[in-house]
Amino acid sequence: MAQLIDGKAIAARVRAEVKAEVEKLQAERGFVPGLAVVRVGEDPASKVYVTGKKKAAAEVGFNSWEHHVDASITQDELLALVGRLNDDPAVHGILVQLPLPKHIDAERVISAVKPEKDVDGFHPTNAGKLSLGKPGLVPCTPWGVMRMLEEVGVSPEGKRAVVVGRSNIVGKPMALMLLQANATVTVCHRKSDLPFEVGMADILVAAVGVPELIKGEWIKPGAVVIDVGMNRMPDGKLKGDVEFAAAKDRASFITPVPGGVGPMTIAMLMRNTLKAAKGE
Ligand code: NAD
Repeated sequence: MAQLIDGKAIAARVRAEVKAEVEKLQAERGFVPGLAVVRVGEDPASKVYVTGKKKAAAEVGFNSWEHHVDASITQDELLALVGRLNDDPAVHGILVQLPLPKHIDAERVISAVKPEKDVDGFHPTNAGKLSLGKPGLVPCTPWGVMRMLEEVGVSPEGKRAVVVGRSNIVGKPMALMLLQANATVTVCHRKSDLPFEVGMADILVAAVGVPELIKGEWIKPGAVVIDVGMNRMPDGKLKGDVEFAAAKDRASFITPVPGGVGPMTIAMLMRNTLKAAKGE
């Protein structure tokens, strides 16, 4: 029976560390980090995420501002807002909550954020640095997964890691971070033989967005299973990408959904904002 990886508890620890560092920064350098969150329109999930981010920012002692604009905003107006935040010295981190309305080119907006304020780690410069193995701001969700592995004492070094999903915000950066940590990494997508590939994994990271796509019986006994999936079911409950009930009988460690990777993403956003503020 797998041991649960308690994302809530680890995330609380990360926030406490950030809070202590913010107090030190204020005492030594006389300022606190500032996080600006841009929310466009009325997407209900975005509202929930942004509320969570503002709450965490307040908890760790940051200044934070929400710029909530109407869905009818033009691309130029949104780019101008990002430009003002880029120029504001009190703002160390800028986050444009996705998704954006269809008439806006999200890639252009992401690329308009100064790379040193890109606390989501989505800017092409930061993505490039990650792929080159150079320091930069990295995407929060996979970074949170790396912290979870560290917390349970699982080193990726020499292990076979399998990442299911190849999105730019989770799957790809996840694969690069595991590679950087000396795992042998396989990245799966729709054309992959999932039962075979999943069966090879010492560390499995599922980031697909299909409820229970990954069957418990595919999982190698003793594997570490990290489920990034957050799928809202018709009954309102959240389900992961892994068939949890069956997987937990085979895995050595497993993350629950909810309460696993989810809380880590916001905690690592706080870490990234602190890093940006310190100019690291
Ligand atoms: P995405 O839709 O951008 O990417 C999904 C990836 O999965 C794609 O690369 C696609 O090739 C692959 N895929 C889709 N169907 C597949 C199939 N049947 N077999 C194999 N591969 C398949 O999604 P994303 O943004 O990477 O998010 C993935 C999941 O993680 C979603 O459930 C999302 O809600 C969740 N998520 C959670 C957090 C968090 O904080 N916990 C953060 C981001 C995303």
